[in-house]
Amino acid sequence: MSETVLALLNQPSLDVPPHEHGAPAFSLVDPSAPHLTVLDLAATRGDGIFESFSVSGGKPHAVDAHLRRFAASAKKLDLPAPDLEAWRAAVFAVAAALDPMPEGVVKAVMTRGVEGDPEARPTGWAYAWQSPDYSAARELGIGVVTLDRGYRADVEQTSPWLLSGAKTLSYAINRAVLREAARRGADDVIFVSSDGFILEGPTSTVLFRRGNSLLTPGVGLGILEGTTQGDIFGWAQKRGMETGFEMLTPAQLEQTDAIWLVSSGRQAAPIREFDGRTHPIDRELSAQINAFLLARTE
Ligand code: PLP
Repeated sequence: MSETVLALLNQPSLDVPPHEHGAPAFSLVDPSAPHLTVLDLAATRGDGIFESFSVSGGKPHAVDAHLRRFAASAKKLDLPAPDLEAWRAAVFAVAAALDPMPEGVVKAVMTRGVEGDPEARPTGWAYAWQSPDYSAARELGIGVVTLDRGYRADVEQTSPWLLSGAKTLSYAINRAVLREAARRGADDVIFVSSDGFILEGPTSTVLFRRGNSLLTPGVGLGILEGTTQGDIFGWAQKRGMETGFEMLTPAQLEQTDAIWLVSSGRQAAPIREFDGRTHPIDRELSAQINAFLLARTE
């Protein structure tokens, strides 16, 4: 048991040779020791994919959905297909080896490998650590600003080479927008397409309630299919709520009864301020959603 745990994958994809013949699928190594070379394409080009799993009670959440999205991202980037069984085992192993802690995170990363490797073997690792304390965001809510992403909502269909909808390692823009939000006095961002539709947060899915319906903008809009949103929809349906997809403008979103940004890690953060204007938060539903998300055992 330790505070941080690292597994290195020996053969991240069965389509290419292992790093070491005959070695196990992954091994737990010292997280504080160096493991990457400066020629890794993650470091030099941000070329690779990742997934972040939330963990409670030593168990990672929504593993099937995350691994499905990992494989879909690999396909979009023309990376070798990840060996999902090896990745699954590594993710479970690092989560289980964490010290007992209220909440943890596992980040699984697969890069295009080391520049010049004739066998083009991806580099892969799964790293687990303690999650920050998100209780204030979950209970008191967050302020968001809408920012133009500069792509139309149909970018995924018109320009697949832009990799919209893939979870790539190129997150410099997703970080830059948070600094822009801070300059505007907000905590987070909702991206809007150049043709005026609500998309997603830089690390989260937009969820909103209208009456008894829980809705999200949808898939195929150049945004990620959220694993947290997927689990919330399943839970909401069981308790009699309607769920569905709806494309809408910022003005229409502001008219809804409650809005959340949902993601692995922070879970459901209700929005209390939208582009500088106060928005009502649904404390009871927020608490129920977060209790459900944190109690997941798979
Ligand atoms: N959209 C983006 C751009 C993200 O980076 C993330 C998560 O990191 C999400 C949505 C939410 O996905 P999930 O609920 O699977 O964490």
